[in-house]
Amino acid sequence: MHPTAPIASVPPRQPAILIVDDAPDHLAALRAMMAQQGYQTFVATTGQRALTIAQRVYPDLILLDVIMPGMDGFETCRRLKEHPNTQHIPVIFMSARADTDDIVAGFDSGAADFIGKPLRMGEVVARVRAQLHVRGNNQVHKEQADRLRTIVNSMDEGLLVIESGGRIQYANPAAERHLGFGPNELAGSLLHELLGAPLAADYLGYFAACEADPGRAIQASPREVMVRLRDGALRAMDFSVTPMNAVEQLYVGLLHDITRHKQSETALQQAAMIDQLTQIANRRRFDNFLDQEWHRAMRSGQELSLVVLDVDHFKLYNDTLGHAAGDACLQQVAAALQSRALRATDLAARYGGEEFVLLFADTPLESALMLAESIRAAIEALALPHPRSPTSASLTVSVGVASVTPTQYDRIDEFFVAADRMMYAAKEAGRNRVMATTRDGLLWESASTHVMM
Ligand code: GH3
Ligand code: MG
Ligand code: MG
Repeated sequence: MHPTAPIASVPPRQPAILIVDDAPDHLAALRAMMAQQGYQTFVATTGQRALTIAQRVYPDLILLDVIMPGMDGFETCRRLKEHPNTQHIPVIFMSARADTDDIVAGFDSGAADFIGKPLRMGEVVARVRAQLHVRGNNQVHKEQADRLRTIVNSMDEGLLVIESGGRIQYANPAAERHLGFGPNELAGSLLHELLGAPLAADYLGYFAACEADPGRAIQASPREVMVRLRDGALRAMDFSVTPMNAVEQLYVGLLHDITRHKQSETALQQAAMIDQLTQIANRRRFDNFLDQEWHRAMRSGQELSLVVLDVDHFKLYNDTLGHAAGDACLQQVAAALQSRALRATDLAARYGGEEFVLLFADTPLESALMLAESIRAAIEALALPHPRSPTSASLTVSVGVASVTPTQYDRIDEFFVAADRMMYAAKEAGRNRVMATTRDGLLWESASTHVMM
């Protein structure tokens, strides 16, 4: 083939006409006339043969004689209308018996039109053309409807058609699936059963506003709603509603299931608050928690206690036993802290490196000191060998504690500095001990070897 040969455009399909008449001369005349109009023609001389051909060639129109030996035209038409492949094909009857009863019987059997015999060819041509035109339009509508149905059935968003009173008139398969309903179970439900009464009332109000002023009817902006599933569970979904511009007042609701999105959002939020190595709270989480408890203590007038803890000679531990051993050790320290932060108002966190913090809300200094001392002792009791430590044969921690009943004159960072200073004081005093300043300004110190007050 020559490379520049023009690409043939597909010609519009030639309408196909099946002509059924037991009189061969009628058949020949009709066939010639239809061919002249540019139609493709098929012929049959019996009803039975007509049914077979119709099944094979699926004609756009059938010209059907009423009176034929054997199966007559009415019976042929009824059979055509019974079969899904042929029921949409328009049938035009041709009959000499054009009295009213006959015409009625013809239409009853599913005819589209009726032509009296003897045939006037001009009339036949006009009626055939008119039927093909109607069918063409119907075909276009049917194809559009089929296309829409495919979209609505296969889309992943739930689609609801809602009446202005809140009744769900139609739900697509995705909506049924998202809400846990079986096929055709959701239609007939009421909006308030899905959304709860207050939210449904909101939407009914919106419908009423749309109907009061149709020109201004606008889409209700998408919002996140909790939808009640068939089994009673609630699920977060995005929901948007648009008025359908139809004679009847109907609204299209689109439901987008965001549970999976929500779950990953929550997982991300949690991950952002957790220290990966030790799986306890991280610094960000701790800072939020401290801020929240600080303001609560300011209102309630209760005492907040802060514990700051740092592993002793940890660089040396890493250098001697390796980074992996160091990591494992940090996990054990974290576990010891976590097991003592038991109340909802306690929080243990890894603040960075080998430094940990604990906040005890509603806890006076004396109690916090006891808790801090028990943590120090617990870590010493782990007896993790620290061969090159200058201060102990096993791994130890130094701990500082500060307490405050915050007022508007106090500052969180100063609270933190107070606890940090005590931790460094513990380091300087020989490590493996807890230190705090009491309210009276006295130094409190605990250690495995001695307790001083
Ligand atoms: P001090 O008793 O004065 O606290 O001495 P130190 O060696 O513990 O203090 P320094 O701050 O000099 O060293 C802290 C070490 O902690 C340094 C760093 O290698 C180690 N470190 C920090 N984060 C991690 C971690 O995630 N894993 C491990 N294995 N080591 C860490
Ligand atoms: Mg250290
Ligand atoms: Mg340190």
